[in-house]
Amino acid sequence: MSGTPKPAPKRGDDESDHLLALPEDATEVAIENAPVRRHVHAGLTVEGYSRAAMQSYWRIPELKIGFDFGLQPWAFMATQTWCLSHTHIDHVAALPVYVSRRRLMHMPVPTIYLPESTIDDVRAMLAIFQRLDRGRLPCELVPVAPEQEYDLSREHVLTTYQTYHTIPSVGYIVWDRRKKLKDEYQNLNGEQIRDLRYQGIEVSREVRVPLVAYLGDSNPRGLDACEANYQAKILIMEITFIAKNHRREKIHKFGHIHLDDVIERAERFQNELIVASHLSTRYHDDQIRRMVDKRLPASLRDRLLLWL
Ligand SMILES: [Zn+2]
Ligand SMILES: [Zn+2]
Repeated sequence: MSGTPKPAPKRGDDESDHLLALPEDATEVAIENAPVRRHVHAGLTVEGYSRAAMQSYWRIPELKIGFDFGLQPWAFMATQTWCLSHTHIDHVAALPVYVSRRRLMHMPVPTIYLPESTIDDVRAMLAIFQRLDRGRLPCELVPVAPEQEYDLSREHVLTTYQTYHTIPSVGYIVWDRRKKLKDEYQNLNGEQIRDLRYQGIEVSREVRVPLVAYLGDSNPRGLDACEANYQAKILIMEITFIAKNHRREKIHKFGHIHLDDVIERAERFQNELIVASHLSTRYHDDQIRRMVDKRLPASLRDRLLLWL
């Protein structure tokens, strides 16, 4: 190290000038920290960013839910419920940041769903940060296994499914649920239905619609493991590799998806929107657009959104 240290700033006019220069509504000033792309579809806003080995983070504000913690854009802290797909560092690194920010801002304790085999280590990580930071990190960690179901609210349910990566991982589906009058009672009037209800007869049934599917990192077996991936209004999925010369067995072994896997399954996707993300940084954006544009079948062209 060379050079003389700068003298400490004098407390006084200079400093207060600087403070006074901040706008009064300083909390509303956007702080550039992490890139966020945004796309609105059918009343749902998909927000986030994802590149392989760099960072992945997503949220759907209308559903009050987020997925993964590769980074934590300032605004994302307002979302109280999160789902962690797996603990690769580019998906989990900002978890303590998120929990800590919410506590500092006096927000309610968040709920974080995460693969059950990771919970002890995530707890230990938080405990170490708590010691280092000397600040509490209050959060409710919910361990999940595949094929489970959790109530998010009266209207929304969360389910999990198995994904296939190099470390324990799960995928998530958010469902809309509503009560619908059973078919056999469709022709009855309000009074008749009320009478049936008084007799303790269940007149309605629950109807579920998968709204958002989040795959996280997985090879194509994860997609196929859960039919709702193909039916959800919005599917957020990874396509890490696209170039022709990549060996697919190797890609699958490392728990990722190639563009060819998507093309092979083109007829299965019933989604209104497929967010294709998590692309490898070895490709340039225009290279990705060109290659995908050249090869994508017509049936997916107007539904697959490259998230770059
Ligand atoms: Zn990843
Ligand atoms: Zn990963």
